Amino acid sequence: MRAVQFLGDRQAIVREKPDPSPGPGEVVLAMRASAICGSDLHRYRPPRGDRPISDLVPGHEPCGVVVAVGAGVDNPKVGDRVLVYHRVGCGNCVQCRTGNSNICQHGQRSYGGYFDGADAEQMLVLAHRCNRLPDDLSWDDAVVISCQAGTAYAPLRRLGASGRDQIVVTGLGPVGLCVLLMGKAMGARIIGIDPMPERRALALSLGADAAFDSADPNLGQAVADLTGGGADALVETSGSRAAHARIVDLLHVNGQAAIVGLGSLEPSINPIAFFGKQLTLFASNLYPEWQLPEIFEFVRRKQVPLAKIITHRASLEDAPSMFKLADSAKAGKIIFRFD
Ligand SMILES: [Zn+2]
Ligand SMILES: [Zn+2]
Repeated sequence: MRAVQFLGDRQAIVREKPDPSPGPGEVVLAMRASAICGSDLHRYRPPRGDRPISDLVPGHEPCGVVVAVGAGVDNPKVGDRVLVYHRVGCGNCVQCRTGNSNICQHGQRSYGGYFDGADAEQMLVLAHRCNRLPDDLSWDDAVVISCQAGTAYAPLRRLGASGRDQIVVTGLGPVGLCVLLMGKAMGARIIGIDPMPERRALALSLGADAAFDSADPNLGQAVADLTGGGADALVETSGSRAAHARIVDLLHVNGQAAIVGLGSLEPSINPIAFFGKQLTLFASNLYPEWQLPEIFEFVRRKQVPLAKIITHRASLEDAPSMFKLADSAKAGKIIFRFD
């Protein structure tokens, strides 16, 4: 089969690799869609140095059709369309056994980071990490759900987002745009904030009720004027320290903020600043696997146009140029299709 490999120094190649065959409890997928995620670039960019080149296949957004099953597997079956949940976890702790391997504390073993991932024609996966897709959910929707739209859904669900809410989303990259699309589908008013005009324009075209420049010195006042005193909730996807520092200004009394974006570990905010408005802040790390059937159903029923964040559909052979494009931050979501 063909599979992507990172050589270091921002170089990706597509090479031959033996087809996988399933052991007990495993299945092999013929990939139908995978995607490039910002987090892949952490492995793509580092200089080659003296380390041996890793032959790990990247990609943690695997969607495909089961083509072979190993001993003892009766679910899924050959021919099933599935999405693979990529955070495998340790498999033994309470979090893992209750569908919360996203917060397993015993090492973050994942597809594309520890096990061979999705940027290949075939992929070997654990049968119990396969989630069957509804027949009418497209591969495009599935691949967006697998990482970014799921990551957007979980904090909105925890906030109980509804038509009563005005929600600010800081950072309008793919996760921020998914917060916008999912939040609108839940009925909320969504206000986007990002320094880049192209991203703000895209957010407005996808239905944002307003979009502000994060560099605007009167941002706090503008959001307060628009919302009648501040937003009910904020979802922070940028990882930027400046965005953290503005949370207090943008929220209403008793507001809530969800921290979704990863960034610098330098201190950015003093919790005492939350006192005056009695704010709540929580972190949301990916999404738990148990939410997947609910997310599939939500996207189907509300016809959430997730595929609109996809700007490039490429074949696996184009991976070298597509990783370059992703690295330039000039594209939206880039996916690989295998048909
Ligand atoms: Zn991802
Ligand atoms: Zn675990």
